[in-house]
Amino acid sequence: MSKTKQHTKYIFVTGGVVSSLGKGIIASSIGALLESRGLKISLSKADPYINVDPGTMSPSQHGEVFVTDDGAETDLDLGHYERFTKANLSRSNSFSTGQIYDAVLNKERRGDYLGGTVMVVPHITSQIKEMIFKASENCDVSIIEIGGTIGDIEGQPFLESIRQIRYELGAQNVLCIHLTLVPYIAAAGELKTKPSQHSVKELRLLGVQPDILVCRVDRPLPEELKQKIALFCNVKREQVIEARDVDSIYKMPVILHGQGLDQTIVDCLNIWTRKPDLTPWFSIVERVENPQGECRIAVVGKYTEVKDSYKSIEESIFHAGLSNRLSIKVNYLDAAEINAQNAAATLADFAGIIVPGGFGDRGIEGKIAAIRYARESRTPFLGICLGMQLAAVEFARHVLLLSQANSFEFAPNSPHLVINLLAEQVGIVNKGGTMRLGAYPCHLSPDSKAFAAYGRKTISERHRHRYEFNNAYRQSFVENGMDFSGLSPDNNYVEIIELVDHPWFVGCQFHPELKSKPMAPHPLFSDFIKHVRRSSQANLV
Ligand code: GLN
Repeated sequence: MSKTKQHTKYIFVTGGVVSSLGKGIIASSIGALLESRGLKISLSKADPYINVDPGTMSPSQHGEVFVTDDGAETDLDLGHYERFTKANLSRSNSFSTGQIYDAVLNKERRGDYLGGTVMVVPHITSQIKEMIFKASENCDVSIIEIGGTIGDIEGQPFLESIRQIRYELGAQNVLCIHLTLVPYIAAAGELKTKPSQHSVKELRLLGVQPDILVCRVDRPLPEELKQKIALFCNVKREQVIEARDVDSIYKMPVILHGQGLDQTIVDCLNIWTRKPDLTPWFSIVERVENPQGECRIAVVGKYTEVKDSYKSIEESIFHAGLSNRLSIKVNYLDAAEINAQNAAATLADFAGIIVPGGFGDRGIEGKIAAIRYARESRTPFLGICLGMQLAAVEFARHVLLLSQANSFEFAPNSPHLVINLLAEQVGIVNKGGTMRLGAYPCHLSPDSKAFAAYGRKTISERHRHRYEFNNAYRQSFVENGMDFSGLSPDNNYVEIIELVDHPWFVGCQFHPELKSKPMAPHPLFSDFIKHVRRSSQANLV
């Protein structure tokens, strides 16, 4: 039977009761399951907050900023979407209330509404629908996660838009999946369904009847409770899915599949698909459960108080652990507490050190002390963006003996700005200039650690930074043992630096963590962990 041409189907994922239930993981897992049936999917995030530009939101409040190939600075959930699926996301896959109002206000200023009264319904809702449709081009199924929790004032225009889309396209083309919490109340010794009933009631008041309920629970959800939830929330029994806490998010697709979620979805949406092939996901689960050893690495950073600030790095380390069959314990150390005196004692127990990206000068000297320790003790080191820039500063200070070497970001008057704005950037920056964002090609030199990791000459990686390696210092760096193993195709931008005489010391100007997936760990993380594994053989079983 050949697949008939289908119009795009829509799946909306909402969340109820409390935030942080893991809507992003559920949406991503649904994407993975539908892909395993040969469907082309797209994943998007609609965020009810008013900020226009997630790029300027603090990582300590909102988690990391995820960057797409086309240079959009987006919500970290897009990172999950890309890690779980093959979807190649872009600017149109993430939009906030702020961006929607911005677009509507621009239209109003241009006179597009011909002087009519501009209102939430229909103008804001129409703009939301326009953005949803734009994000859903060229795919079989478009999955849209609605940020926030049902009941939030900010979320209402999004729910009204969902109601309208379902009204316009029909129930067979639009599915609503609601993620809810079924808490265990210790005093009663019971799991309680009432919060879920209330949040579904709230949804229905807004005209949206969820089709599938995914229930977060910390223990098994008994059959009679599933039936009760189905009856009270007006869904069929098979449309109640249990999502019990898991030790690894990468088990989720297999767990949901085990309860027939993907079958229920394709039935509801009346889609014909091939049989699901979850072999790669089963093999991930097998690797998660059977590491051959354990090792510890340190991430010396700034936003250590919020775990999500380094989400993609954490996941990339985990992926590299899977491919190297290691369970990796990651300690996040506050760079501000590290200095030249305590660096060795603080870091001695770690088999590898990562200095991640960042902005602003807090903890800079601590990071430099950590990098110096990694270089001198021959501990495997990966410097990412700011981490690479500081590796250059450290090398200039302690190998080239330019004691005042620095980056323009921290000491604009330093006599040795090894990290600077390139001449051609200065004009742009003076005009309120902006960062190098998104994917750029890079050429690797043969015989380098970078080339050994990637196994090919031309790579493409994502950037998010303003400053660059200052080419005036290239020659003295090379003469003293630093190899510029990755350069832009025009040779003008230094993209990767590495120490020639060190087991594995690599710094990259881009963000490799944005492209790592469980099935395809990023080559730099993978090789970094391979060397970590080598230098910590003792911990292997
Ligand atoms: N602050 C540095 C710059 O703007 C590094 C940025 C980063 O690490 N993402 O160049």
